[in-house]
Amino acid sequence: MNLTNIGTVKDILGRHGFSFSKGLGQNFIINPDICPKIAENGNACKGFGVLEIGTGIGVLTAELARRADKVTAVEIDSRLLPILAETLEEFDNVKIINEDVMKCDLHKLIREEFDGLRVAVCANLPYYITSPIIMMLLENRLPIESITVMVQKEAAQRLCAKVGTRDSGAITVGVNYYGTVRKLFDVSRGSFMPAPNVDSAVIRIDLDTDHRLDEESERFFFKVVKAGFSQRRKTLANSLSSVMGIPKETAYSALRAMGLPEAARIEQLDMEQLIALSAELRQNI
Ligand code: SAM
Repeated sequence: MNLTNIGTVKDILGRHGFSFSKGLGQNFIINPDICPKIAENGNACKGFGVLEIGTGIGVLTAELARRADKVTAVEIDSRLLPILAETLEEFDNVKIINEDVMKCDLHKLIREEFDGLRVAVCANLPYYITSPIIMMLLENRLPIESITVMVQKEAAQRLCAKVGTRDSGAITVGVNYYGTVRKLFDVSRGSFMPAPNVDSAVIRIDLDTDHRLDEESERFFFKVVKAGFSQRRKTLANSLSSVMGIPKETAYSALRAMGLPEAARIEQLDMEQLIALSAELRQNI
């Protein structure tokens, strides 16, 4: 079944009485060039199990299933299940789990679904929840090798920014702490049904197997990072005080100890400085 043929897609959706949910970020890919490119660049190949997040009608799922040993996809919208039963009928290596990915025990899922396989994540992510999903995948320290995802252009810019610049955010620190990130290609808004108001891009994160901090220091580090970026216009000392209750004087002396001004803002600190600041604060609170 050609899931990028507009007539075919309209026919299936019509027969199942399906209407798009804007709230669930449902913009399905209809450009035939995109899904093969995501699959080819996203480790969907022999020896790999692929976790997909959000199937829509299965256009990307099918390309992943053609290449990988197994695809397990988490899809929140139960109205898509009868559609997927039809569109993915030819594949015996696909499993759909009807859940909210943010509530899934992904360690368990990976253990049960991908025993003996290397694991990659591929998805066209729902835009309303892009950063929380990526951050959740990273912070859970899941045994995955890469995350290849379509995100809106602005999110791609943030993800691929340099830590310590105005374009960076907590998610930028996250991807650079856990691995390396690069943009693969741009995707125009006309590649989707319905077309969103902005263009998109596909990015790939390659995850490191070891981490620079132990789990407890890592948790504290990300608390500091999230507190700083939640009020990025404020000075770092002010955000740490209002979000984490760290006394301003403690924050000032940590900044001074690192040769930074008391009025420093989080977006001015690079990765080394953020890690050093978090260690300094942790010792002194
Ligand atoms: N992969 C399909 C494609 O490219 O055509 C669909 C992509 S669409 C941008 C996002 C999909 O994620 C939708 O099918 C939506 O129902 C699903 N979704 C939204 N929120 C979700 C959540 N919290 N957990 C799992 N799936 C979710």
